[in-house]
Amino acid sequence: MQISRRGFIKVAGVGVAVTTVGAFGFGEAEAAVVAHVRPFKLANTMETRNTCPYCSVACGIIMYSKGDLKKGDATITHIEGDADHPTNRGTLCPKGAALKDFIHSETRLKYPMVRKPGSNKFERVSWDTALDRIARLMKDDRDKNFVAKNADGVTVNRWTSTGMLAASATTNETAWLTYKVARSLGLLGFDNQARV
Ligand code: SF4
Repeated sequence: MQISRRGFIKVAGVGVAVTTVGAFGFGEAEAAVVAHVRPFKLANTMETRNTCPYCSVACGIIMYSKGDLKKGDATITHIEGDADHPTNRGTLCPKGAALKDFIHSETRLKYPMVRKPGSNKFERVSWDTALDRIARLMKDDRDKNFVAKNADGVTVNRWTSTGMLAASATTNETAWLTYKVARSLGLLGFDNQARV
């Protein structure tokens, strides 16, 4: 087939026009494109705002879940930075960006565990049991070791035989309250998970 340069451009132009028209829905192109586009993965998900638990920067995150949150069978399918959060403005560092894997990790601690004296394994206990046990042990230890005055008779109100490690994934108000509770008990050994 003989075709001039001018004729080739005409044919090519017609080809482009046909393709463009097809892409607008006048041919099979639209169906082909649709077949290769994945469904929007955040469709029909529930958005929950939260705070990244890793460090004291406390970036805001949005967690997307599918399922019934009230029944407790929802699954988190995606996490991203909260663009409205004043701390991170939607950004996340690599740790925060990998939060979904942390949440679904098989080794993630989800409930209180206790290793009884002489045992070599941890066993699950209820929150009531854990909180009662912690309160009992704290009270007994404080009663035994609290120092109200030092050797010179100066009031010091120290409790140095127990320490507290607080979490960083919290609000300023909760952190303030945690600090006040710990210090009002006389605790000196008090630090934050973000510094460990
Ligand atoms: S996303 Fe990174 S910087 Fe922000 S709180 Fe989490 S660990 Fe810290």
